[in-house]
Amino acid sequence: MLSRMDRRQILSLPLALATPAVAAATTLAQGASPLSVADFSVDGPLGSQGATIAAVGPDHFRVRLGAAPNQPGWPNKLNLRILRHARGHALRLDVEFPQGTDYAFNEYHQSFSYDGVHWHPVAWAQGYLASPRADTLTFPPFTGDQVWIGTQTPLSWDVDALALIDRWRAHPDVSVHVVGKSLQGRDLVRLEITAKDGPHPKARRWAHYFANQHPGEHNSQWRLVGLVDWLLSEAGADVRQRQVVHVVLMMSPDAPAHGWYRVNQQGVDMNRSYRPAGADQATQAHEAFLWQRDLERLMASDTPVTTIWAIHTWSGIVEPQIIPGPELRGARGDWTTFRTALARADRLGLIEAVTLAKVGQYGNTTWTDGPHAQFGITAVLCEGGAVLQTRQLNEASGAAIMQALGAHYAGTRLTP
Ligand SMILES: [Zn+2]
Repeated sequence: MLSRMDRRQILSLPLALATPAVAAATTLAQGASPLSVADFSVDGPLGSQGATIAAVGPDHFRVRLGAAPNQPGWPNKLNLRILRHARGHALRLDVEFPQGTDYAFNEYHQSFSYDGVHWHPVAWAQGYLASPRADTLTFPPFTGDQVWIGTQTPLSWDVDALALIDRWRAHPDVSVHVVGKSLQGRDLVRLEITAKDGPHPKARRWAHYFANQHPGEHNSQWRLVGLVDWLLSEAGADVRQRQVVHVVLMMSPDAPAHGWYRVNQQGVDMNRSYRPAGADQATQAHEAFLWQRDLERLMASDTPVTTIWAIHTWSGIVEPQIIPGPELRGARGDWTTFRTALARADRLGLIEAVTLAKVGQYGNTTWTDGPHAQFGITAVLCEGGAVLQTRQLNEASGAAIMQALGAHYAGTRLTP
């Protein structure tokens, strides 16, 4: 157990990094010419559809963000690359989204990286409360020639997610199910993690289903990565024998290459895409229909889902809100017993105490109220985590969630 002071220090580490204290000390390498617009790209595994870049002054550029498909008020995320010549330059980006905006583009921190793997948080100058349509990023002088810039702690589908899935599929307890193709032809991947053998037949095991609906909420995707890695570690061996865990890292894998925050290619908000009356190809977003049909097949199987988790990011630490199903109203304890299990597993103080969700607050097309309405199962809206500005802290929060589920859902769902 950490003291309060220890917790504060851990939580403040990435925030301290976010202050570009050295930015004032511009040290352009002698003889190096300033960066030019041609050195930037907004395409690639982390992209920003419709963004335009214009020079304002030496190493100073204006970026105008584009909008999501069919959503003129929804800015795409700022994802771009400097392809060359970055070393020694202290970049200033003035970023604008001139249209009326329903979601501020600067609600979350940005990050930069020299390899697309190790990310350093960087704070907006003003923040979304003060200035939701225009804001500035100032970077310390770069120490590498190529630089990646992305939103939250970025996670691309085409490089990062596919590499993770390749690593996970080598584990004997992982099955990779492709439930269909996205509109742009990417695989829709659901991981199924459970021990291939063991004392408990699969039909007796608990089952949990986790999915990320909003593709630009990358911190929450790293939460899932930490959850999977804990489950596949030695510490998760017992849980794998008693539980089946389904993980959808992104419901809208087309999004990161375009910087879409909430949507698929049709511009449908992926957490307003559920249909409690049943999956329907004619009326649902393309990917949402395929995911819901897949979930319905799981519910009709001999190992139906016990809890469904919608994985999101908003401000603060991780914030789980629960709609209890029947197993949290019975002899094994109510939802507060799970709250206690999660508080115990959360040794770093990364997760708020579980609260009861306000049923109906966001409607039955969300992936919490919707499945609860259709199947009566426990549903958790797992929000927050924006303040966790590193991959490691988000992963640790996910590991704690999986550990708590393993502890609370003791034994098996059906006793012999
Ligand atoms: Zn969300």
